[in-house]
Amino acid sequence: MALRVLVVDDSAVMRSMVVKVLHMTGLPIVEIREAENGRAGLDALELGGIDLALVDINMPVMDGLTMLDNVRANPKLASLPIVVVSTEGSDKRIKELKEKGASFIRKPFAPEALVDAVISAIGGG
Ligand SMILES: [Mg+2]
Repeated sequence: MALRVLVVDDSAVMRSMVVKVLHMTGLPIVEIREAENGRAGLDALELGGIDLALVDINMPVMDGLTMLDNVRANPKLASLPIVVVSTEGSDKRIKELKEKGASFIRKPFAPEALVDAVISAIGGG
């Protein structure tokens, strides 16, 4: 298994933090791409080859929920594992994300929480 991951967040600092943690996980990651909003994230996914996306909610141009809806509505991308990484984690929001087939971790996150979310999103336990 070789994982190609897309990290979507409007904060460059947050993206580099997520990338750093991903490199620490021991997961077989061969490539990490980055996008700064949901629109750029969709563009990156449409190029193909991504196995997992970590997506912020609050972003300019296109937010993470709209991106998630677009992914699920696209037959080529519909089953993509998605982990939403956000400060916005009300019970209602988390339930809504689950219904859309995404998992959730709250910012700021412990590295272990990100690792667990990634492993369960890709079906590794
Ligand atoms: Mg943001």
